[in-house]
Amino acid sequence: MRSLSIFGATGSIGESTFDLVMRKGGPEAFRTVALTGGRNVARLAEMARALKAELAVTAHEECLPALREALAGSGTEVAGGTQAIAEAADRPADWTMSAIVGAAGLVPGMRALKHGRTLALANKESLVTAGQLLMRTAEENGATILPVDSEHSAVFQALAGEDTTCVERVIITASGGPFRDWTLEQIRGCTVAQAMAHPNWSMGQRISIDSASMFNKALELIETREFFGFEPDRIEAVVHPQSIVHALVGFCDGGIMAHLGPADMRHAIGFALNWPGRGEVPVARLDLAQIANLTFQTPDEERFPALRLAREVMAARGLSGAAFNAAKEIALDHFIAGNIGFLDMAAVVEEALLAVSADPLFGKVPSTLEEVLAMDHLARKAAEEAASFRQQKR
Ligand code: NAD
Ligand code: MG
Repeated sequence: MRSLSIFGATGSIGESTFDLVMRKGGPEAFRTVALTGGRNVARLAEMARALKAELAVTAHEECLPALREALAGSGTEVAGGTQAIAEAADRPADWTMSAIVGAAGLVPGMRALKHGRTLALANKESLVTAGQLLMRTAEENGATILPVDSEHSAVFQALAGEDTTCVERVIITASGGPFRDWTLEQIRGCTVAQAMAHPNWSMGQRISIDSASMFNKALELIETREFFGFEPDRIEAVVHPQSIVHALVGFCDGGIMAHLGPADMRHAIGFALNWPGRGEVPVARLDLAQIANLTFQTPDEERFPALRLAREVMAARGLSGAAFNAAKEIALDHFIAGNIGFLDMAAVVEEALLAVSADPLFGKVPSTLEEVLAMDHLARKAAEEAASFRQQKR
């Protein structure tokens, strides 16, 4: 029986993973080693009971008593806190879903890779912050990383059986988010609710706002570079409002392989769950005549400066991605809290990058987690300063 763990089980990706695992037979088909979540302990406990999980962990120690009560008599062990989440990743599982949001997903993912099994990676921040370290850890331990971000799953599928030295370009698509056709002035005044209203995908709050600012696509450009190893000048983003084509790979003979599918993350998650084979996944089937039009446009880096910043990070490489992601997380926190405006987010990230770029760690290839966390810490501090300066100016 295959064993699995789900980190971030109660989130949007976690719920979809749980759904697919239950449809494939749940506890009859899988031995569930660990499930982790945040404050929603009632849902975490429900999932743990349904999958007969060996361990359930809440990220918050203060939520542990409630989790313990909710799982009383179930036979599921409980734990709480960040350290307990890292330790849960030390329990070997054949297949691990990494679906915690933010840099917090890095440590459990790294630990899971040390067991040399399969890591289904939705947590794009791991690749952005520590791509070279993560890929090396996988290689050294004979582990497999399967990308779960839809664009990267699409590239992975388009590359199957291909000679990667013949790849000329990789193009990931972007819906353009809710502000695709807004003017810079309109975008400047948007609210958190407007930024969260993604036209095509239903996702967690943070990634939805990142999609509106195109910071999500910026992270994904870096993720493409780190996961597949292509040079930055071969990686492009194109706006595709229908979100039907998820990525395209162009080869040296001029042919392009495109991956199409409905905007439903269960496709990419199901692909990773069934890999190396394919299995039935309950997503809607595309009716191409009904869709009728697939359109594409060049992204506008003036209204969406995150894309320009991603290019700078891809060029600098080293630990600049850790700085970029950390600064972005702080800027996003301040936007959600109402302290800074939507466009201030990119300005804060740019200022923080500038502030930490003189640090010797900035351009260094990460060799330890400590280095990554040190750069993350510096950039968070710089971003806090930049954000509070902007907050005072408002
Ligand atoms: P979400 O906010 O819906 O869920 C996040 C999960 O992580 C929850 O279980 C939450 O309890 C847990 N969590 C949050 N902070 C934590 C912390 N500090 N420590 C431990 N656990 C914590 O997020 P999501 O939309 O499911 O996204 C998860 C990851 O997948 C992100 O990295 C995101 O970029 C990526 N992703 C999501 C989608 C999507 O459609 N939602 C698509 C592609 C990639
Ligand atoms: Mg994506």
